[in-house]
Formats: sequence, structure tokens, C-alpha cells
Amino acid sequence: MVKRCIECGGRILNEAEDTIDAGLKDGPAYRVTVKAEICATPQCGAKYYSLQEIERAELAAALKMAENGELTGRTLGCCRTVLGLPLERLARLYRISPRLLERIESQEVPLTRSFADPIIARLGQEADAAGPLPEAFVVH
Ligand SMILES: [Zn+2]
Repeated sequence: MVKRCIECGGRILNEAEDTIDAGLKDGPAYRVTVKAEICATPQCGAKYYSLQEIERAELAAALKMAENGELTGRTLGCCRTVLGLPLERLARLYRISPRLLERIESQEVPLTRSFADPIIARLGQEADAAGPLPEAFVVH
């Protein structure tokens, strides 16, 4: 069955490649190459990404963020979201109250290095399970 573009009804090209930006809007953000389906109609060019491709891109960006030592309260929150970890569970992992973790993520309270290690380990485990991840390049 030929897939049709939702926007224009045109033919969809499978196995195309595109880049998306993952991370935080105001940085750090990373450009990641993903598989995409692109509408063949030149005036349209609508792009479709699978949820799995987006998740892999987000994981690659989160890992880069953590490994580059860019872990702040905000990026920690971003990594936690990518990992699908509820705030309460991560707080328990750190042996702190959910309220304190909330304050760390909103950067009212500074993040210490000891907080970075468990999240890097988790991201590493996820990355191993996900197989080879696309390269993530710094955008800003
Ligand atoms: Zn289209």
C-alpha cells in the first residue's frame, strides 16, 4: 500500500533522512540525523518521523548533554523526562525529597556532581538497550 501525505495527499518517500533538534529550546540542543518519511510533492515536502526515531534522537541528545558535563537542574529534568522517570522515582534514587528535586530542576538549588552520575548511568543503560544511536552535534 502506498502511503499518502496527510497534508496534500501526495506520495510519501520512505527511507529518507532528515535532521531534528533535540534537547532544550534555549540550549543546550543537539542536531541528530533521523530516518524520516518525506512527501514527494516539492511544494509540500511534509516530513514524518516515527515516535521511535524521535525517542532515539532525544536519548542521543540527553546522553551527549550528560557526558559533556552540561548537567544543570534544567538538563537533569530534560534527561529525566527522556528516561520516562517520574520525579518521585528519581528523588527516591537520590534519597532526597521530591520537593528538593523539584527545586533542583527549577535551579533554585544547585546540582552537585553526585547527582550527575546516576543519571549518566541510566542514560548509558538505555543507550545500550537502544542499539547504536545517531551522532548528536551541538546546535547551541
Ligand atoms: Zn504532502
